[in-house]
Amino acid sequence: MLTGKTALVTGSTSGIGLGIAKALAEQGANIVLNGFGDVEGPKAVIAALGVKVAYHGADMSKPGEIEQMMKFAAAEFGRVDILVNNAGIQHVARIENFPVEKWDAVMAINLSSAFHATRLALPAMLAADGGKGWGRIINLASVHGLVGSAEKSAYVAAKHGLVGLTKVTALENATTGVTCNAICPGWVLTPLVQKQVDARAGSAGISNQAAQQQLLGEKEPSMQFTTPEDLGALAVFFCSPAGNNIRGVAWNMDGGWAAQ
Ligand code: NAD
Repeated sequence: MLTGKTALVTGSTSGIGLGIAKALAEQGANIVLNGFGDVEGPKAVIAALGVKVAYHGADMSKPGEIEQMMKFAAAEFGRVDILVNNAGIQHVARIENFPVEKWDAVMAINLSSAFHATRLALPAMLAADGGKGWGRIINLASVHGLVGSAEKSAYVAAKHGLVGLTKVTALENATTGVTCNAICPGWVLTPLVQKQVDARAGSAGISNQAAQQQLLGEKEPSMQFTTPEDLGALAVFFCSPAGNNIRGVAWNMDGGWAAQ
């Protein structure tokens, strides 16, 4: 379905980003990976699916490096057809104790990076398909783009901002073939959440399993983690012809969290 298209997924060396990159590659899209840590492992996972894969190590908190990454993707594959703004970090503290540099980092990586990648991807998307435009911009927000939680001021503010950016991107391009939507997961057991599980297990003196159950029990009625595979399938749906007129939604996949 996506053969010949190129998807750039930020923060795709791990977790949800890698899951979405795999799902798009399974549909035939070539992939540009980005993120820190092990690169060869994720590259091999994508290459095994029979598509082309490239990697750029831009730090998503740095606009100049994002510009270099977008130029690199265009040079490698012609243009970016599918942009998944996924890179994100978390920091947990009450506002009066929140380190200022952590606030700035969460805002830069979770929100401003999506603005920069989007502004740089849009011109080629709008010129695609003989000028009618074709593109898919998918922003990994969170259920925290829809509701708040204590001690997550920067994350909740950034994710609400990302939902707002999603709506404006969708509206500005509503008469074109370029759509923009947000995905809002509840708990997904990735390294980002494992750190919160570990912190809880440590401070409460309970097992990893018990800490997971506590985390779910507080917020997620289904008592189940959403998986990167589930989220990949939703991203594929947004890229399918059925997604042509889905514009500006913030689609939660959260086990009922935001329904309460
Ligand atoms: P993760 O920690 O497993 O992966 C984050 C990815 O971002 C990694 O590839 C990491 O290298 C990359 N990254 C971090 N800082 C970066 C930077 N400055 N520049 C480039 N890459 C950087 O986290 P995840 O859980 O897969 O989260 C992915 C996205 O999903 C985030 O935006 C997160 O907020 C969102 N999300 C996660 C959950 C969850 O429960 N895990 C829930 C809702 C939303």
